[in-house]
Amino acid sequence: MLLYLKSIFFGLLGALLVNYLADCLPHKRRPSMPICNHCGKRLSIVRYLALRQCGHCGQRRRLRYGLVALGGVGLVYWIQVYPVRLDFWLSWLVLVVFGVITVIDIEYRVVLFETVIAGGVVFLAIGVARHGVLSTLLGGSVGFLSMFGLYWLGKLLLKVRKRASSPGEEALGFGDVNLFTILGLLLGMPAVLVALWIAIAAAGVFSGGVVVRMWLSRNYRTDMAIPYAPFLIFGAFALLYLVRP
Ligand SMILES: [Zn+2]
Repeated sequence: MLLYLKSIFFGLLGALLVNYLADCLPHKRRPSMPICNHCGKRLSIVRYLALRQCGHCGQRRRLRYGLVALGGVGLVYWIQVYPVRLDFWLSWLVLVVFGVITVIDIEYRVVLFETVIAGGVVFLAIGVARHGVLSTLLGGSVGFLSMFGLYWLGKLLLKVRKRASSPGEEALGFGDVNLFTILGLLLGMPAVLVALWIAIAAAGVFSGGVVVRMWLSRNYRTDMAIPYAPFLIFGAFALLYLVRP
């Protein structure tokens, strides 16, 4: 019974934090008073918590709030019943950082520098405590270098294919490089390399699914931008929470 109550309470608390940060960070770049994630205007705390629609633009609160809440309760339940590698509170904190970066990347196709810095401090501390300074710094460096290599490879491929539909289009954003650097700190070496393979495989399966769907609907688009942060985070998540220690 306590297990369920704890899952619901701390799951919803984490979800509230993720939703709130994912609403205000893209607009304000720092925690602020609650705002509408559509028009960026202030919402009263009561209106915000009651999930009422925005008084300025009429935006109804998105489906995202519900999905994040469900995910939050499910994950907090999971970290209590599964033999995971981090204790409850550290896991909760890591999952909130994962959640904020994932939601913002899916909605805005960007990994904010602010979330990378804040997450990086947390991940560095956890990394050093878990597997020492050397493995942590090596993990961060390997994370940065491997992603930086893929970043340039992506740029090169776009150039060769000359399919860039908009001038600023990038296969992989630099935010992804930053993100994988801090995930490297969290995981350490050599786990960071395993996480990279999991991320690439997951992104490959997803892209394959997208291609099949386009093929079935006879609607081809070569300029589809896929947010990569969720796959990188999934790679780290799988190692920390799906593989038995
Ligand atoms: Zn609004």
